[in-house]
Amino acid sequence: MPTIKILAPVDGWCTSLKEVPDPAFAGLMLGDGVAIDPIAGSVSAPCNGEITTVASGGHAVGLRSAEGVDVLVHVGIDTVRLGGQHFEVLVRPGQSVSAGEALIRFDLDAVARAARSLMTPIVVGPPENVEIVNRCAAGAVRAGEVLFEVAMRAARVLAPASASVAATATGKLTITLQHGLHARPAALLAQQLRTMTAEVLIEIRGRRANARSVVSIMSLEVRCGEEILIRATGADAAAAVDAVLAGVEAAVRAEASAGHVAAPIAESTWVRGTTGDRNAQALAGVSAVPGYVVGIATRIERQELVVTETGAGLDLESVALLRARSNVKARLLRAGEIGSAARREIAAAHVEFLDDPLLNEVAQEFIAAGKSAGFAWRAATRRSMSLLQGLADERLRERADDLLDVESHVLYALAGEARPMHLPLPKRAVLLADDLLPSELVALEREQLTAICLANGGATSHVAILAAAMDVPMLVGVGARLRSVTEGAILIVDADSGVLEVAPVPAVVERAEARAAAQRAQRVAERVAAQRECRSLDGTRIEVYANVGSVADAFAAVANGAEGCGLLRTEFLFIDRDTAPSEAEQLATYQAVAAALGGRPLVLRLMDVGGDKPLAYLPLPVEENPALGLRGIRTALWRRDLLHTQLRAALQVEPAAILRLLLPMITDVAEVRTVRAIVDQLCADLGGRVPVQIGAMVETPAAALTAPLIAHEADFLSIGSNDLTQYALAMDRGHTELAARMDALHPAVLQLIAAAAAAGAAAGKGVAVCGGVAADLAAVPVLIGLGVTELSVVPSAVPAVKRLIGSLNLAQCTSLSARCLGLESAAAVRALVAQSLPALGDSR
Ligand code: PEP
Ligand code: MG
Repeated sequence: MPTIKILAPVDGWCTSLKEVPDPAFAGLMLGDGVAIDPIAGSVSAPCNGEITTVASGGHAVGLRSAEGVDVLVHVGIDTVRLGGQHFEVLVRPGQSVSAGEALIRFDLDAVARAARSLMTPIVVGPPENVEIVNRCAAGAVRAGEVLFEVAMRAARVLAPASASVAATATGKLTITLQHGLHARPAALLAQQLRTMTAEVLIEIRGRRANARSVVSIMSLEVRCGEEILIRATGADAAAAVDAVLAGVEAAVRAEASAGHVAAPIAESTWVRGTTGDRNAQALAGVSAVPGYVVGIATRIERQELVVTETGAGLDLESVALLRARSNVKARLLRAGEIGSAARREIAAAHVEFLDDPLLNEVAQEFIAAGKSAGFAWRAATRRSMSLLQGLADERLRERADDLLDVESHVLYALAGEARPMHLPLPKRAVLLADDLLPSELVALEREQLTAICLANGGATSHVAILAAAMDVPMLVGVGARLRSVTEGAILIVDADSGVLEVAPVPAVVERAEARAAAQRAQRVAERVAAQRECRSLDGTRIEVYANVGSVADAFAAVANGAEGCGLLRTEFLFIDRDTAPSEAEQLATYQAVAAALGGRPLVLRLMDVGGDKPLAYLPLPVEENPALGLRGIRTALWRRDLLHTQLRAALQVEPAAILRLLLPMITDVAEVRTVRAIVDQLCADLGGRVPVQIGAMVETPAAALTAPLIAHEADFLSIGSNDLTQYALAMDRGHTELAARMDALHPAVLQLIAAAAAAGAAAGKGVAVCGGVAADLAAVPVLIGLGVTELSVVPSAVPAVKRLIGSLNLAQCTSLSARCLGLESAAAVRALVAQSLPALGDSR
């Protein structure tokens, strides 16, 4: 049978759809395929074909191959909510593309921060006609590598319409879904028709789509408020129309409950409604920090310090520069100590520049050539800036601003002054500038600062990170027209949609003020709620931490109210390398994560290499069954050189008190003892560092069943439900056919979790769950009912998990989970939870 090769559209980590944190994709409702956790922001065509769908938000593209295979690439989860921000679509519907041709460009970091997940499903259909063969194994993939092959089956033959039954039926429906019929509602709708035989079409604006094909439905671009016509032909035509209506209703319900769970997005109809009113005074920009505000155009002038060129001699100027640098360094470190995590990170980056050997070498050369310290320092920083500005990587280019900032700090210090700490602003100031330095931003009066609009700049610059940490909406890249905006003009900054409205008419301002006020109230309530310590309704303390795989994740964790990092997947930090990271590199990265956490606990898991997580720089022997081979702690104990390097780096993280080590894939207590002995030795080598807490992951049935022994030896337990489920159910976590049955709520898995939780409680040790099930809202009451004391989840899930725990009564959860342990299947557990959930907050 001829097959069609589907290529990876993006670089990243390929995984099963089951890993996608979205039931529609994970349940294969949009079709079979794989998912990629991208590490680059460029999506290319997975095969030759014609573009059939471009989601209006630019986050998804569908194409059909000449053989009739529909392929959908959907960047991230819930990215429809971004309303097109951070995405640039490079193709149009109807356009022919070749495999590998660029389809979408997106800002990886910005989407990572704003979306629920970056996980990008690549699914094929129509389900009845295609079958996936030769699927690639989970692991790192590069764009253009074969993900899987698709074989075409003969088209499904529908039962002929019976002459005695009404053969056609129609129905009309106004779509009230906020983002129209996007991927998930389309899947719910198509799903309803699985058991029907009628041919069903959806019609709108003279276009029609096969209601069984998600890609086809998406290609209609049905928006909120539009009416669709459903036309069914066949024996069960009437039932099919009803099924479509039921599918849309299910989608509306799902959206309502997702709105309850996920971060709400600003209501956007007003912007759409006024699009026609926009004139030359509406400027487009890139959203760096979302938000919707009204304020007054304000400019600040940057003064370039004058420096004399001629120096007073090598010694004098060298000493002057040295003293100025050390004054600035002390000041930066002090500011970092009292500031937020973002400020600390920026201060640390600036200190790096201050100490940069190349920069200082060049400055010394100028001084040696007779120039003043100020002239030499400026010449050296400008030279490095032009080097950075010439680089292809946007994020590195953006670091040039940091250099300018460091330059100005040192020049002020040479002039005997410190950079002014506070620049006065008028009330409700919207700061307009070509660009802005981090230190200039922190010098502004926060209370008056409503928003920032920059003509230049990038969304990933440090100043943007800082603005996000300060919660100041920010547009960047507005362009030179920003300079024509008059000082004092009223501005509507829509940093949700990337639009700046200049001097709108009073009626528009009034509506915008109301919208901004509503958004403020909503955000304040959400953020405030998520920042609180998490307790159940009856006051039991349950900690909610975040799983982190990058420094950006750590920032997102804190912003979402995580009480710490419960799982730093260190193997992800160096995934794109083919040489092992040095101790210094590892320390710098761990320290950056620690800084972002701002003093919160950091559970650093030792590299979990092997199995479905191979690393290029650590080739493992060929294994018949890698999931049962060298994995986690086994790999670490096999390559002790790498283990020692990692431990040495980890043990130098400051402050020492926040650090806890976590050992992956523990099978017996001896492994914990062995690592503890190594850690004790390294602590002694490092000058008597205080002992660090060591936790064991419970990911194997062996660890769960011997948890009393392990809990005695370890300082805490953390249940890796992803692997525990795989090993308890003897189902590969990447296996597609078994994906729907790989459910951590299977009573067998729950019994293992219960055993670990009981062992932890008996030993007086905390028990966390850091696998995916911790973010599953149906699982939360069961887990805490079993005695789990901490949940560690993806950063964006933190507010929802905290809110849910706050509504639960622990005694009710305990009796629910006891009942779950005796049930016969995961489905039965889910049904019982769904039925019990409304009563779980009941304190009677
Ligand atoms: C787990 O197995 O549940 C876990 C948290 O580890 P990972 O998913 O990284 O294997
Ligand atoms: Mg695991």
